[in-house]
Amino acid sequence: MKAFKKLVALGLVAAFSLSLVACGAQKGESLEGETGSKGETITFGTNAEFPPFEYVTGSGVIDQYDGIDMAIAKKIGEDVGKDVAINNMEFDSLLLALQNGQVDAVIAGMTITDERKESVDFSVPYYTATQVMIVKEDSDIKKASDMADKKIVVVQGYTGETCVQDLGYKYEAFKKGSETILELLNGKCDVVVIDSATAEKYVGDNEGLKIVEDNEAFEAEEYGIAVKKGNTELLNQINDSIKKMLDNGTVSEISAQYLDADTTSEEEAE
Ligand code: GLN
Repeated sequence: MKAFKKLVALGLVAAFSLSLVACGAQKGESLEGETGSKGETITFGTNAEFPPFEYVTGSGVIDQYDGIDMAIAKKIGEDVGKDVAINNMEFDSLLLALQNGQVDAVIAGMTITDERKESVDFSVPYYTATQVMIVKEDSDIKKASDMADKKIVVVQGYTGETCVQDLGYKYEAFKKGSETILELLNGKCDVVVIDSATAEKYVGDNEGLKIVEDNEAFEAEEYGIAVKKGNTELLNQINDSIKKMLDNGTVSEISAQYLDADTTSEEEAE
């Protein structure tokens, strides 16, 4: 009887350890502790606060993560023949995590900029966006220069922040896009500067808001996937996959699907 109890206990310990290992794997760490193009898993870093590109939902395409980028990351994994995992973190930490080897690639609606190119390598572009202004429906803001004496809100570290800095206007920065929209809805600011597709999502999901564009003030931006500088093996694999998906219409299909979908994050909805 004692021996049987011992066996049961051992079994429990084994099962518990296995489940711990499984949890680790779900968090985006490969079981071998090996990341990079040599491992069997590509760990993508993202900031799942950017609908329709990445957000948290009940059942996403990769674990609880859904969106255009997540669907693209999954397809890249399929093309390359590797599993994909997501490591969700603050936008500002993504490039550092890449440099530290904590993630293999970053897919986060990230605009390819010269400044970022100094620290990481980018794939070919897969999406074109621009900064836009979200205002209340009755706002008198019609172009970027109308923001001069208004209360402007941006998300910290996004290219929207850089654009407002370049215009020379004062602003307040928040950590999440959803927080900036709350500020606007609550009348605590006059305008939010953010990427176009994300703005469309927020305006679609919230009453009383509209988008104001100013193509002279805000240039087109291209999103790319970042890898650690010099990781050409992974970069080539990602590039081949993206080029294929651009050519055969997969990126357009995925984008259309998520631009129409209800991407309200469950965390926000609660
Ligand atoms: N495209 C913007 C940037 O690169 C915002 C990206 C994001 O919030 N995920 O800064």
